[in-house]
Amino acid sequence: MADILVIGAGMAGIATALSLQARGHTVRVVDRRGPGEETSHGNAGVIQAEARAPYAMPRDLGTLVRYALGRSNDLRLDPLALPGAARALMAYYRHSAPSRHQAATRTYSALIARATRDHGKLSAEAGAEQLIRRTGLGEIIDRPADFETRARTAERLASEYGLTLRVVDGAALAAEEPALRPTSAGAVLWDDSWSSPDPAALVQSYAALFIRRGGELLRSEVRTISESEQGWRLSTEKGPLKAEHLVVALGPWSPAMLRQLGYRIPMVMKRGYHGHFAMEDQLGRPYLLADHGVVLSSMTRGLRITTGAHLARAGAKHDFRQLEHGTDAARIILDIGDAVPDSLWQGTRPCMPRMLPMVGQAPRHARLWFNFGHGHQGFTLGPTTGEILADILDGRRDALTAALAP
Ligand SMILES: Cc1cc2nc3c(=O)[nH]c(=O)nc-3n(C[C@H](O)[C@H](O)[C@H](O)COP(=O)(O)OP(=O)(O)OC[C@H]3O[C@@H](n4cnc5c(N)ncnc54)[C@H](O)[C@@H]3O)c2cc1C
Repeated sequence: MADILVIGAGMAGIATALSLQARGHTVRVVDRRGPGEETSHGNAGVIQAEARAPYAMPRDLGTLVRYALGRSNDLRLDPLALPGAARALMAYYRHSAPSRHQAATRTYSALIARATRDHGKLSAEAGAEQLIRRTGLGEIIDRPADFETRARTAERLASEYGLTLRVVDGAALAAEEPALRPTSAGAVLWDDSWSSPDPAALVQSYAALFIRRGGELLRSEVRTISESEQGWRLSTEKGPLKAEHLVVALGPWSPAMLRQLGYRIPMVMKRGYHGHFAMEDQLGRPYLLADHGVVLSSMTRGLRITTGAHLARAGAKHDFRQLEHGTDAARIILDIGDAVPDSLWQGTRPCMPRMLPMVGQAPRHARLWFNFGHGHQGFTLGPTTGEILADILDGRRDALTAALAP
């Protein structure tokens, strides 16, 4: 059995550690923060059984121009971000060609299809069932013409993947969800998806299970990683660490860490923001406001509003305009109270241009393993790719592992 160090205690790192531990390996996890305090905290908390196709980059001129002119709240593009992001964006554009996107979707849908089952198992073992609700996910559409188009697309997707879908008009939605005003054209309701009222707490409950089973969680900033005769040597703010095998699960920080080993990994850094608002009534499920690019989720701290993607220059200041627009849109359909103090947050979706996470052995180093780049659905996919990486480390090789290979 191997001695394995995982760097990164987000959903991906903690779930990987649990899967490796379950196979009998000795596992430690190191993170500069507590478990689930970064991207795995700030998301919309949806375990997305319906997300069978990864987000491709739009290739039609009209949509690209709309983004460039700031006419969409789904995506905000700062022109100053383009020089630094050009390589990753060009690769994303190439991989978004229909035939390549279809191939990525085949792999992605195989991962997503397992996600609720994998979370169900882990949450039961962790005694954390109250941190996952079998709520489903709704998409609210404002205009009747868009509603018809969206409903037909959703019906096709549901029948292709065997998903449970309900299409309801605005009045039926308001009858089912008393907190909502009947102003929208309607909604599509995906019943197979789940959600968490506290995403960070769910990661923390998985981390507590890892510790109960004998795992070690270290809190220290990793500065350098280098190969040694026995495997790997890390310098950290609290001293050196050694391990036979190293798993990099640093989410959006993975490419920067791996540069010192000569890897230049393009990643599309899609920022996202959230804020919490007081709200008396709970929503029965999270809702994407499809025309406004935000998700509304009732959480422990109040209503969390999370935004779509913002492509910004590295190090650029927070820009909460998408959140402000989304909050205005939410106030039309809901009674929302004041912003919860200190609840504004910004993080980054770690998106790979090929739209699949990198899961497997590093191309040029033995005993170095990657599990990062989960993009828009890493909270959903952490336990699934954790299992797959543990299988790969133990020798599994098949079409799925080939498709995910770094
Ligand atoms: C606004 C928004 C909404 C989202 N909504 C959803 C959703 O509803 N459903 C869904 O499935 N996904 C969602 N996502 C995506 C999801 O949150 C991410 O894909 C996922 O959290 C990535 O997990 P991770 O473990 O790879 O990274 P992280 O959770 O970021 O973990 C990486 C860890 O690395 C640590 N680290 C970094 N550098 C160092 C260092 N030098 N030394 C030590 N430790 C270090 C960090 O402290 C962090 O804990 C959303 C993302 C955003 C931004």
